[in-house]
Amino acid sequence: MNRIIHAKVSILALVAMVFGMPVQAEEKAPSVMHFTNVNVFDGKQEKLLMGQDVLVEGNLIKKIGKNLEAGPDATVIDGGGRTLMPGLIEGHNHLGLAVDSFSWFNTRDVFYIAAAGAAEAEKLLMSGWTTVRDIGGPAMGFHHAVEDGRIRGPRIYASGPVIGQTSGHGDFRELNDPHPNMIDYTHPFYEYLSFIADGPAEVQRAVREALRRGAVQIKVMAGGGVSSSIDPLYTVQYSPAEMRAAVEAAADYGTYIAVHAYNDTSIIRSAEAGVKVIEHGTLMTQAAVDAMIEHDVWLMPSCQVLNLSEEAVGFLSEESLGKFTQARDGLELQMRLIQENPDLVVGFGTDLFGSAGNFAQIPLELTCLEQYFTPFEVLRRATSINGQFLALTGQRNPYQEGPLGVIEVGAYADILLVEGNPLEGTSILVDYEENIDLIMKDGVIYKNTLSD
Ligand SMILES: [Zn+2]
Repeated sequence: MNRIIHAKVSILALVAMVFGMPVQAEEKAPSVMHFTNVNVFDGKQEKLLMGQDVLVEGNLIKKIGKNLEAGPDATVIDGGGRTLMPGLIEGHNHLGLAVDSFSWFNTRDVFYIAAAGAAEAEKLLMSGWTTVRDIGGPAMGFHHAVEDGRIRGPRIYASGPVIGQTSGHGDFRELNDPHPNMIDYTHPFYEYLSFIADGPAEVQRAVREALRRGAVQIKVMAGGGVSSSIDPLYTVQYSPAEMRAAVEAAADYGTYIAVHAYNDTSIIRSAEAGVKVIEHGTLMTQAAVDAMIEHDVWLMPSCQVLNLSEEAVGFLSEESLGKFTQARDGLELQMRLIQENPDLVVGFGTDLFGSAGNFAQIPLELTCLEQYFTPFEVLRRATSINGQFLALTGQRNPYQEGPLGVIEVGAYADILLVEGNPLEGTSILVDYEENIDLIMKDGVIYKNTLSD
């Protein structure tokens, strides 16, 4: 195919020469990048493939093997024995919520908050996180701005507004704020953050409206959460009929429902209704795990966020702070349940959003999890398994040319070159400034300290 394109180019060039035309119609051959002398972690196997070459053509991985031939036009990058691995995937974040405090939704200009989110997107990419699953809040704009090349950032799988019931975890109103469906009033920010919907018909409309705005997966609030003040963690949100309505509306658009859920009842009810992913699950017991395995429901837990200091969560209301402490107490049991149930599919997501300081802790999720799991288990979740979570978006998947989170022929060229072997300890990825020498996303290099 390469040869055909080259042939086409030269015929066009010849025609242009003869007729004195500008050579604008030239079809450009995709650029070829040739990584030599690298040890490959492919995202799936607990070993490095030593002494490999990797060929990238355009935005995809073309070949992997020893001593590959790349042709004279290829750009050669000598890996010098570094580890070549997939770009990291953050499975649970909220780029649209770059706020020091929830009061900012009332006190800051919405464009200030957007600018802060764009800055966090760039920082994520430049620390080795090449994809983000954004699981609630205004993130479609970031996705489009990245794809249009206006800002630098990771690939973004946006959910858009979360969907929750009146008095649920998506209901962020202060006590005396009017209900958006009862009084003609819309908060300038909340409309992007959450839709309040009650009853199957309203839930369906909310899901469809989020899809209309470009959501690739849908986030629904199925039980109590920390950041809203009103709903205790024991609460179960949405009836089975409401949850099924959400699942059906998403399925009709070729995608799935992920739910925020902490307690067993919320998790089991969601699993039975056809939900695909449980976010958090922090207060789950074995009964919830059994339901998840039975219904092939996957789990996206978070570790580091529950280790945030009192100071870091100081902006929370008194009610929310109490709930934060309660959630933190569930972490040890949750990690033990994950260890004891290898059939449960578990992703990697931090839920670290808010202040710049919170976003900066995202890489620490790696070492937080390493207290309970091997570096390989942690890295596999942050690469190939998270890639499978992204693929749940089916026909809504914005990146369909190949898989993400793996180093294999045909996969997207989202690639890191790392000093050292992360399978011996992920802390080298926390110190990304020092150890991640090259960052490539979609075949484009964003950081390269090897060339100077
Ligand atoms: Zn979250």
